[in-house]
Amino acid sequence: MVDAGISTKQILKRMDERGLDASKLRALFITHEHSDHMRGARVMGKRLQIPVYMTAKTYDGSYKNLRPDFPRFFTCDETIIVDDFTVHPVQKFHDAAEPCSFRISYNDINIGVFTDIGEACDNVKEHVAKCNALFLESNYDEKMLWEGRYPQFLKERVASKVGHLSNDQAFELLDKHTNGELKCVFLSHISKDNNTHKKALATMQPLSNRFEITIASRFEASEVYQLTSTAGHKKQIPNNPQNLKLQFPEF
Ligand SMILES: [Zn+2]
Ligand SMILES: [Zn+2]
Repeated sequence: MVDAGISTKQILKRMDERGLDASKLRALFITHEHSDHMRGARVMGKRLQIPVYMTAKTYDGSYKNLRPDFPRFFTCDETIIVDDFTVHPVQKFHDAAEPCSFRISYNDINIGVFTDIGEACDNVKEHVAKCNALFLESNYDEKMLWEGRYPQFLKERVASKVGHLSNDQAFELLDKHTNGELKCVFLSHISKDNNTHKKALATMQPLSNRFEITIASRFEASEVYQLTSTAGHKKQIPNNPQNLKLQFPEF
């Protein structure tokens, strides 16, 4: 699991609603210390008895009451092996102590979780290009942000190089830095004040013939997707959306 920005109770409830067994979780990785990514970190680690990975700087920068009891520290230049998964930290621009996103590899499948990015640096672009599925921030609509109710300093912070990706920035990243191996994108970390699902989707519309694009709501769990690497199989979409399988050729 990457990040725990809501309470453990909510996480477990939403997993259960989608038929996901929390006892199968093997580790929790924290991207940075902001509470919308760490709120449930301590209790999740304790309740499920799983390791909570973060950098030492993220730990030091976090609220004491959210810190896991037994953190596992990593540095952003190493890869971390958890059973059959390989986790690649991806350092990025964001106003936190040592923010990183993650690309997770399993059986030649790569899934990227990329949120809270002020500006997509070469490092982010390089890892995005390797992904078969992306959980990608599409935080704000430019017009809504600048005309909205946020105080000026906060508007500037959101739009800065260490803030968040706008719909247009997310579009550019997807348009220019992904290849044919990318099958689906979850637009995520969508601001409730400065964006709408409709605007985020409309921005990405020109890309809809290249990969599936869907919205990850902040209020409820998304459908569950299974990605499998199977030689010679084409993409299959069963009727039951909760069991949607995307199958890739071996590469
Ligand atoms: Zn955030
Ligand atoms: Zn943040």
